[in-house]
Amino acid sequence: MEQSQRTGRLAVTISVGLALVLAGGAGFAVGSMTGSVDSAAATPGVSQSPSPTASAVEPVPGPTVPVDDAYAAALDDSLQLGSETLAEGQSGRSDINQSDGDLKVLNWVETEDPVFFVTIDDGIEKSPEALAVIERYQIPVTAFLTEYAVRNHTDYFEAVTAYGGSVQNHTMVHGALDDPSTDVQWEICETQDRFEKQFGYRPWMLRPPYGAGPKDPDVVKHSAECGINRIVLWNIVVTDDNMVEYWEAPIKAGDIVLLHFGSKLAEGLEMLVSLGKAQGLRPAALEDYI
Ligand SMILES: [Zn+2]
Repeated sequence: MEQSQRTGRLAVTISVGLALVLAGGAGFAVGSMTGSVDSAAATPGVSQSPSPTASAVEPVPGPTVPVDDAYAAALDDSLQLGSETLAEGQSGRSDINQSDGDLKVLNWVETEDPVFFVTIDDGIEKSPEALAVIERYQIPVTAFLTEYAVRNHTDYFEAVTAYGGSVQNHTMVHGALDDPSTDVQWEICETQDRFEKQFGYRPWMLRPPYGAGPKDPDVVKHSAECGINRIVLWNIVVTDDNMVEYWEAPIKAGDIVLLHFGSKLAEGLEMLVSLGKAQGLRPAALEDYI
């Protein structure tokens, strides 16, 4: 399952069933935009049957994601676009919100302020509708971008992050940083150099693709030597189909939400703002808290 999850276009959109499989007994609830969010919220910690096999699940083909240059197209087979999800041991309000020396790995933020954090990954689609929602609510967005998706689109991502957010590192070509065949130094450090040129500042946060290897010695080493001091995971996912995966519903102060630059991002952001509002929370800039 791990391999098919990381490769191939079928993984672009995860079915609820697959999301539950991936939850694998980790015990988080899944809701949807159409009304089950509330029922999910009412039953936190829904337990799932432990580790069913992937073959028991029919993957749902996702939409075709347009790629806008030949370079991206050439890399497409090795990329998995937007199907990161919570996996046991890497998410939830665990002891991961702690410091390893100067480099801190976190997937939520300890705060009593009534805030949550909006992070959006990859950057494949540059939706004007999503940008309009960000502008309407003035949402501080931390955009974890894959370098190949950024080229010639810096204006879009500067606009997306204009409300207190920032552009941060999500590697060059979305390699799994715990995979021995991945050039970890290049994935992290080349992105740092290129983003510094493109955006005028050097990123200081890294989101490893798939959430893989945040404490891997190579990841820690190359992050530190190239200017990263925060490795940021997440504890809520709004999927590309605008399903909500909670570690522990409902959304709470300090939660870090993961979305992707997909075709339904505008609706997902609207929904997320509403979910937060229902709990008395507003989006705030991660940059101000970590
Ligand atoms: Zn990603």
